[in-house]
Amino acid sequence: NKYQDAIFVGEESPYELKHFVIPDHYTDDVDKLLIPHGVVIDRIEKLAREITRNYSDRLVVCCVLKGGHQFFADLVSCMKKLPNREGKSLPIDHDFIRVKSYENTASTGNVQISMTEEELCNLEGRDVLIVEDIIDTGRTMEALVALLKKYKLRSVKVASLFVKRTPLSNGFYPDYVGFSIPDTFVIGYCLDYNDVFRDLDHVCSISSVGIKKYMS
Ligand code: 5GP
Repeated sequence: NKYQDAIFVGEESPYELKHFVIPDHYTDDVDKLLIPHGVVIDRIEKLAREITRNYSDRLVVCCVLKGGHQFFADLVSCMKKLPNREGKSLPIDHDFIRVKSYENTASTGNVQISMTEEELCNLEGRDVLIVEDIIDTGRTMEALVALLKKYKLRSVKVASLFVKRTPLSNGFYPDYVGFSIPDTFVIGYCLDYNDVFRDLDHVCSISSVGIKKYMS
């Protein structure tokens, strides 16, 4: 089972919204609370440990903007304190790519990657870890990894905080994954819906009211 390394998040959440702080401005816009913020952070600590001890040389950690930035920040801040394969500290460089494929809550299939030829050439010979928020159909990561593979990197691995269990998956699976989540549109922990909800800490599913209110 390819999902065995991830924490399984079921369709029915064990958490009730009333037990958590949800900003007043989003009260009607969230449906279920799927993963509390604290659990996200705990899981990232473990991923950081697994990742750091698989490397020995200077690593480029590449953040996929915008949704991946919170995961990137929390992951790198843990990795900095953890030992590499030889039990020493791991030097980490930062890089940022902007990728866009979504309109409202549907993948458009048209993946736009903003990286210049110069930026891509600078990655030659390097170990690169791509940090992504969520994998849905897998098209975004497939396109990005295929592009990077043309540039003679030493290695390319992908860490994704969430993977969606969807029949639309193209089979792409990340090297490191935090949670496997049901086939629903999620928001919170910097995952947005038309740029809204990045200020919500807990990972939630969006309500039909929220979908309508912030439709672009
Ligand atoms: P894919 O190419 O795998 O279909 O989609 C990946 C991208 O779509 C992610 O980087 C993310 O930006 C967006 N995405 C997919 N599912 C969700 C979701 O449930 N919530 C949010 N906020 N974004 C999603």
